[in-house]
Amino acid sequence: MKLSKLASEIAESPTIALNEEARILRERGEAVIHLGIGEPKNKTPIGAILSSAAKLTSGEVKYTPADGTPSLKKAVIRYTEENYNRLSSPENVIITNGAKQSLFNIFYSLLNPQDEVIILAPYWVSYPEIVKMCYGKPVIVTPEDGTFTPRFEDIERAVTSSTRVIIVNSPNNPSGAIYPPELIGKIVDFCERMGIYLVCDDIYHKLVFDRKIAHPAYEFTKKDIEESHVIAVNGVAKVYGMTGFRVGWVVGPRELVRVMTNVTAHTTSGVSPVSQAAAEGALNGLQSVVEAIRLQIENNREVLLQEMKTFHGARLIKPEGTFYALPDLRAFNTNSVELAKFILKKALVVTVPGKDFGMEGHIRLSISGTVKDVTEGIARIKWALDPTSPNEIYIGDKKMVRDWL
Ligand code: PMP
Repeated sequence: MKLSKLASEIAESPTIALNEEARILRERGEAVIHLGIGEPKNKTPIGAILSSAAKLTSGEVKYTPADGTPSLKKAVIRYTEENYNRLSSPENVIITNGAKQSLFNIFYSLLNPQDEVIILAPYWVSYPEIVKMCYGKPVIVTPEDGTFTPRFEDIERAVTSSTRVIIVNSPNNPSGAIYPPELIGKIVDFCERMGIYLVCDDIYHKLVFDRKIAHPAYEFTKKDIEESHVIAVNGVAKVYGMTGFRVGWVVGPRELVRVMTNVTAHTTSGVSPVSQAAAEGALNGLQSVVEAIRLQIENNREVLLQEMKTFHGARLIKPEGTFYALPDLRAFNTNSVELAKFILKKALVVTVPGKDFGMEGHIRLSISGTVKDVTEGIARIKWALDPTSPNEIYIGDKKMVRDWL
């Protein structure tokens, strides 16, 4: 079959591939633990349920404006003011099918073929693929070995006359790192001086631990949304645990939003009004749901740190936010794809290879599940890799004996 060269070169989503393998194992009755996917365990917030149910029962489920319903945009404007101390107008906001589509649409609207986008490793797997789908060229900046924060000088050095965008994701998927405010400030200033857009993927901005704050880029510019080069991406998936509703949004200059709206009008026609009503209900409803998710994940992070203390050979930089951790397992195998396959085969734990995030030799663990998932999952990985751990373990009701170390 003759397929487009561009589309054929887009990598399969590693999380989707691993989930499929895990599903098959589960169907066979195996006691699989999922530390692969990142989504909180909470039920949909009640405010979201009520407002989307009201929309459904009205029977008026029709097209909405392509850029989103006025009432959800209003809720986003309020959210932006409360969380970013920024005034925006409806013309600065577009609602999208998840933050993923926000990013696709931004790059589609900003890039000409071969324009470069700077991506800071470790990075979310979809960034390079989305940039490539928009005919752009991903340029990866890697941090110094043993750290997850890029050096400003390395970012500066990677910039060329073709650089159009730098993308920052802090708190970061997959490392859980929060970039220091000084670094964010320097990047904002640099982008404004150079006329480069700074796309801030803030999808985890409230999921932070130890009373830390993920300082938003807007804090470092006095310019208003029209003049500043900051473009903020957000959504309800992570902070409200509403991954299935597929609602994200962008706050940015009017001209960008106008073009993105045209792109949306000819592609998806916008987001389902049922989902938009749900997002509105979440944004306008009780915010204690966010704190409940944050606390649960912070507790899981404590459990993870405790378990990792006795994992000899693994090196972990303490995650400061998100629901991910990215331990360095190079002491066992420098090939993370082999590591993740081995861990799934022997220990029945789903992880994601660090290679897909630009961090070979690491694996990403999601701690968004239960405490039991975290304790048992780590115990099994230790058992599979660390010769100093006990060589017998129960996986489900089967006693397993390690005979390969
Ligand atoms: N950005 C990052 C960094 C993410 O981790 C994710 C989801 N894994 C997204 C964007 C996409 O979010 P959504 O589900 O709203 O499309």
